[in-house]
Amino acid sequence: MMEHNQAKELLPAYLDHELGITDANAVEHHLGTCPECQQAYEEQRSVRALLKRDAAYFKAPAHLAQRINMSMPAERARPNRFNGWNVNWLSAGAVIATLLALVWSGSLYLALPSAQDRLLEELVSSHVRSLQVDHLSDVASSDQHTVKPWFHGKLDFAPPVVDLTPQGFPLVGGRLDYLNDRTVAVLVYRHDQHPINLYIWPRADSNSAPQMQSSHGYHLINWAAGGMNYWAVSDLATDELEIFVNTLRLQV
Ligand SMILES: [Zn+2]
Repeated sequence: MMEHNQAKELLPAYLDHELGITDANAVEHHLGTCPECQQAYEEQRSVRALLKRDAAYFKAPAHLAQRINMSMPAERARPNRFNGWNVNWLSAGAVIATLLALVWSGSLYLALPSAQDRLLEELVSSHVRSLQVDHLSDVASSDQHTVKPWFHGKLDFAPPVVDLTPQGFPLVGGRLDYLNDRTVAVLVYRHDQHPINLYIWPRADSNSAPQMQSSHGYHLINWAAGGMNYWAVSDLATDELEIFVNTLRLQV
């Protein structure tokens, strides 16, 4: 008969199908006789399912790995398993056990990217996609009086459209995109050979000053004004992108 403590210890490995047939049978038998282990098994199984489902959102495994390593009890650590963090870390039973502890303590949620992080990812993906498929503009025009009406009827809001050619940032067109669970307006500007995608959608809450962020080698500046949310995305140098944003803010 397998002891309770031993069975409990083996639960993560059991869930990972890492046990030999004898141990697996013993754990299974114990689960049938011990409500406490049965409950632990169900909890661990459901959290694992959750982790697998959300695995796509784990964008920072190295960061997470560090947190896990720091929180690993010394006697549980198996250094040989933690050297290669680029391998499938979800499969390591001991890691799962520690993840479970983190989930239960609530701290894992801090490591999950926020809605803001996912928006950054979406913005950069959209920017990169617009360059890759050469689909910067649905309406190609430097004339704001052509671009502005083009949005009419395609959106439930009217994005402010200004040309900044005299200031060195010519408007080259506009398009629609789908971001943040809604259709957004995109104005496309250029500075030298660098495209700038300016994403615009309505935002009810108060204005906010421009904030610079970087992701995947691109720079993003976000601000809110006049009931609109703005995101400028480009590979321009940060100071030039700041000049673009400041110039634009004087106009809209
Ligand atoms: Zn038990």
